[in-house]
Amino acid sequence: MSDVSAPAAGQNTLVLIIEDDAQIRRFLRTTLTSNGYRIEETATALDGINKAALRAPDVIILDLGLPDLDGLEVMRRLREWSSTPVIVVSAREQEHDKVEALDAGADDYLTKPFGTSELLARIRVALRHSARVQGSDDAVFEVGDLHVDLARRTVSVRGEDVHLTPLEYKLLTTLVRYAGRVVTHRQLLNEVWGPSYTNESHYLRVYMGQLRHKIEADPARPRYLLTEAGVGYRLWVD
Ligand code: CA
Repeated sequence: MSDVSAPAAGQNTLVLIIEDDAQIRRFLRTTLTSNGYRIEETATALDGINKAALRAPDVIILDLGLPDLDGLEVMRRLREWSSTPVIVVSAREQEHDKVEALDAGADDYLTKPFGTSELLARIRVALRHSARVQGSDDAVFEVGDLHVDLARRTVSVRGEDVHLTPLEYKLLTTLVRYAGRVVTHRQLLNEVWGPSYTNESHYLRVYMGQLRHKIEADPARPRYLLTEAGVGYRLWVD
């Protein structure tokens, strides 16, 4: 899949950092500026919401534990008017908030402590996704030896055609649509089965198992259909 239309680092990409921990803010600032991003930063939720409106950033990094307002509430307020990609940053004890933030419209998450390559990968995927939403849809998705032709509705892996049931195909193409990003259990159940099935996590486990058996060389050690423990699934992109 080509991502020529995605804004790349060094092309004036502005990242808004909303984080009260000065040390993490410094790490983000140093890493991002040395990789060609412009940054805007703040330590409070309310100032963050203001800056999101005034500066129109390309991506927002939002800490879930802020002093003045719950990060989850910030997420909800942002999504009332903004579709800017948001990557939430959570501490280990905020697992539940993280899932809720994703369900409220966050694009991805980072759990503290996180490293440089993880941070940059998340930002790249978030920007690529927002470029694709604005631009044209690719009819063919390819990663590694997995090939999904969305126009012809065919899937092949390692050069062999794979026959999928309609639900398996829908599950796979939902992950393709969010390629590289985490998709929560709730989001997948809602998009594949419908809004009244959002608690039927066992459906997802069964169908994901079937899909892995058809697609993965080693279903026990998946390369493409990755589990994000306690959160959902992520389709691997290189
Ligand atoms: Ca914090």
